Amino acid sequence: MSIQHRSLVLNQNYEPLNVCSVKRAFLLVFSGKAEVLEIGEEPIYGVGNAEYDTPSVIRLQYFVRRPTPQRRLSRREVFARDAHTCQYCGRHSNLTLDHVIPRHKGGPHTWDNLTTACQKCNHQKGGRTPQEAKMPLITKPRRPSVNPAELFIMYLDNYNEWEPFLTGWVKKANQEMKYAS
Ligand SMILES: [Zn+2]
Repeated sequence: MSIQHRSLVLNQNYEPLNVCSVKRAFLLVFSGKAEVLEIGEEPIYGVGNAEYDTPSVIRLQYFVRRPTPQRRLSRREVFARDAHTCQYCGRHSNLTLDHVIPRHKGGPHTWDNLTTACQKCNHQKGGRTPQEAKMPLITKPRRPSVNPAELFIMYLDNYNEWEPFLTGWVKKANQEMKYAS
C-alpha cells in the first residue's frame, strides 16, 4: 500500500476537473467547498496524530467555468481522430493529410477541413473538392472533443477508485453527443 498524495477534483456537474494534493482537497472539504465522494485507502494524520479519512475523489459544491481543453491540431492528431483510415477509401496505409477544400480554393488549415487520405486518394483528388472529384468522405471532419479521462488516465495505476468517475463521465459525454447530433 502506498500513501496517497493526490486527489481527483470533480466539478459540481461531476466533470473531472483537475488533480490536486490531498492536503488541498482536505482543506476544500473542511471549508465546505467540496464534498468527499470516495475515500482513499490510507488515513491522513492531523494535529495530535488525529486520523482523518483521505479525500480521494471530491466534488466541488459550486460550478467552475473553464474553457474546454483543446487538442492541438497536428498530423498525428488528425490521423488518430480518423482511426488511421483514409476517409475516401478506408485504407490504412500510406496516409497523408488532405485539405478537404483545397488551400488554393481558400480551404483553411482547421480540424473541419483536414482529413486523412491515402496517397492514392490524395493524388486522385488532386486540387479538387470531394464534390468535384466525386469522392465522398466517409466521415465529415470535425474538431475532436477531448476525453477528460485521457487527461487523468496516467493516475489510474495508483488510484483505482478514480476509474468509475472518469469512465462514467466519458459515457455521459458520449451519450449527450449522441442526443445532440
Ligand atoms: Zn484512400
